[in-house]
Amino acid sequence: MKSIKTKWDLQLLYKSDSDPKIEKDLRLIEQLCESFAKKHKGKQFTKTPQTLLKILDESEKLNELMDSCAPSHYFHFKTDLDSSDDKSFAISTKYGQRLTEASNKIKFLGLEIAKIPLNKQKTFLNYPALKPYKYLLSQIFINAKYNLSEGEEQLEDLLSQPGYGMWIDAQEKLLNQQVIKHKGKDIPIAKAMASLSDMSKKDRREIHKKITAILKSISHVAEGELNAIYNFKKIMDKRRGYKKPYSATILGYENDEEAIEKFVSLVSKHFHIAHRFYRLHAKLLGEKKIFLADRGAKIGEIKIKFDFPRSVNMLQSVLAGVDKEYLNIFNKFLENGQIDVYPKKGKTGGAYCSGYGKLPTFVLLNHVDTVRSLETLAHEMGHAIHTELSKNQPSRYRDYSIATAEVASTFFEQLISEEVEKNISKRELIILLHNRILGDISTIFRQIACFNFELELHENIRKDGQLSKEIIAKLMSKHLKSYLGSAVEVTDEDGYFYVYWSHIRRFFYVYTYAYGQIISRALFEKWKEDPSYANKIKQFLSAGGSMKPEDIFKSIGIDTSNDSFFEAGLKGVEKDIVKLEKLAKGFKISK
Ligand SMILES: [Zn+2]
Repeated sequence: MKSIKTKWDLQLLYKSDSDPKIEKDLRLIEQLCESFAKKHKGKQFTKTPQTLLKILDESEKLNELMDSCAPSHYFHFKTDLDSSDDKSFAISTKYGQRLTEASNKIKFLGLEIAKIPLNKQKTFLNYPALKPYKYLLSQIFINAKYNLSEGEEQLEDLLSQPGYGMWIDAQEKLLNQQVIKHKGKDIPIAKAMASLSDMSKKDRREIHKKITAILKSISHVAEGELNAIYNFKKIMDKRRGYKKPYSATILGYENDEEAIEKFVSLVSKHFHIAHRFYRLHAKLLGEKKIFLADRGAKIGEIKIKFDFPRSVNMLQSVLAGVDKEYLNIFNKFLENGQIDVYPKKGKTGGAYCSGYGKLPTFVLLNHVDTVRSLETLAHEMGHAIHTELSKNQPSRYRDYSIATAEVASTFFEQLISEEVEKNISKRELIILLHNRILGDISTIFRQIACFNFELELHENIRKDGQLSKEIIAKLMSKHLKSYLGSAVEVTDEDGYFYVYWSHIRRFFYVYTYAYGQIISRALFEKWKEDPSYANKIKQFLSAGGSMKPEDIFKSIGIDTSNDSFFEAGLKGVEKDIVKLEKLAKGFKISK
């Protein structure tokens, strides 16, 4: 392979901020949407299957072009590399609005199709030439009863920025300005949070207290924000006729509401597995009782460093072992500058993979040479491979449901973990296994506790109108306790972490983490049993959004409708805990 780039090359999108192609792309989309609307709006294109087919083919061509339109993404990526770049931030918002207005013009198409009466829908669904659109049509028909008038739909799209997005931005800005004063130093709050698990017990608990105090002191803003956005959702849900606070999310991810309700209650009934882990976690830390500050505390160091070149080598060999195409995708990303590797002042924290339509996919990392950094690389490349393979789908099916996203990413994470295991000592293996279970507990049980917390928050705000910051904190403490169990002491003050928890601002999407994690474990086990299962995994990674998630998994031999499937997944986590309990007998934390 050619040499590796460790910085994003945004020229893959545009040559520079003043590239004339930016305005040209925007105009093209605006004009095409405009003329599409002029040509078809008010015409009777849903009269027969043939007329519908014609307009769908035409709109598909338009969507393909929109899938290559990058202006707002380009500027958004720039602000993620440099948060002080206010200019790019403003431009990205402005262009985002222009594109929303353009796509609003063609919204009538879906709304008109949704009006096809129930008794005629079958004729359309079974018309042979419409087969490529069958799933799309069936989704439009299912969602039809929640549609509003065209004007209202457009208004919601535009109002969701000031009624939702801008509230969250304001809250985030306030949060990002907070610093923790410790030992004469000012530590930005995000950094303090991220490094809690690495600190000594004394520092960790002290800083945790300081963070809580700061979160409490600015909670009046989060109180206003949450009450506003939860009420905005309440108003829209009522208008659209969604029965429950989570209905829109689950339907949007193309899952079955009843199945997810059953799943959430099943995980909640198994919180005792999480309790068992935290008892062991406390023991491994050498404590009888621990505090929330110690929830993610390390029990030891894995000394080997995974610098980026080494991480690349390891991931390359793992990917080649499953499918050569995965390796080729990874190499192409490295050569083209689609991965931004190292932390930098002003760069956004954490890691993500962003792929939209046919645009090049970009991966953002903050690689600091730890095992976790290596696992994150594998995780994000899992998303990237899923995204790249889904690009072979037509525009209408290119986006995959969030319910399948984490299955892909955690599958690749498991692959790399297995590779790491081969290279470490027994003591390090204990630490690694501990960290992995800690991650699983967070992904499965913590996220479902979060779901339960959100639900109660929505229900109470719907009932009482508004909730005070103190009551929200109390609710949060209650749900933290529910999954942490009696080994972890949670105070009312700890409840103020809702100020920080970004998940509760993306209503109910957390269940997809738990759901995806369990399915991905099953995928991994099947592949371990029979390497030829790799073909099925590729089939799943290439399916995009062409079927319901349940049906995609069914097609590769995983039946999520079977009650015992998820239960077996949860028992699998418990088995890992038992394994760690045995392995760690006599383990002493180095203080
Ligand atoms: Zn992910």
